[in-house]
Amino acid sequence: MNSVENLNLIKRNIEKAKAGYSVNQQVNLIAVSKTHSIDAIKSLLDSGHRIFGENKVQEAKEKFPLLKEKYPNIELHLIGSLQSNKVKDALSLFDVIHTIDRTSLIDEIIKELVKNPRSVKYFIQVNIGNEPQKGGVATENLGDLINYAKGKIVISGLMCVPPFDKNPEPYFLQLKQLADKYNLAELSMGMSGDYEAAIKCGATYIRVGTAIFGQRIL
Ligand SMILES: *Cc1c(COP(=O)(O)O)cnc(C)c1O
Repeated sequence: MNSVENLNLIKRNIEKAKAGYSVNQQVNLIAVSKTHSIDAIKSLLDSGHRIFGENKVQEAKEKFPLLKEKYPNIELHLIGSLQSNKVKDALSLFDVIHTIDRTSLIDEIIKELVKNPRSVKYFIQVNIGNEPQKGGVATENLGDLINYAKGKIVISGLMCVPPFDKNPEPYFLQLKQLADKYNLAELSMGMSGDYEAAIKCGATYIRVGTAIFGQRIL
């Protein structure tokens, strides 16, 4: 199957999962195009898809400015960690940033927005499995980070990547509970292998790469 057929299959699976689990939130499908070529992205754009995700600012900068000129209404999501020295580029390129994880990053964003105002949507990444090597704010510091963001940037929701090789469902449920606790509407969770479970637990954005584009060539 080609990427457009894969995308359509996933869209059908989303509807099946919603019906099967009796959930009715809107589920937005982010096609994660990291490592994939401009031509691979164009195939999906030509089929009408507009929501894409990249995990590196530099790579997105090499691929998306040209595509944005040609295809209006692309919605680009940053799903990888954001270094402070990349904030300027990130804010000019991305429509949604999923990886707010520290107060200093919020400070950098504010500093840049004062110079170049732009409407961007933000998620806080939560290190839901408390894994030392993973990005995201520790669950016990989430409340403080949400408070810090108040009046500075609007946090729309929470994002997580559960531990690899574990049943992701308890982690998805925990993220859902945290979002409810802090009155946040959006949940970015679920990847190629677990997006149906994420939908069951309330995901409003799923981030799918391999199941659309095939294996990444690293
Ligand atoms: C690469 C990546 C994805 C997509 O993963 P697949 O398993 O290829 O669907 C989702 N979220 C994040 C944060 C990623 O880095």
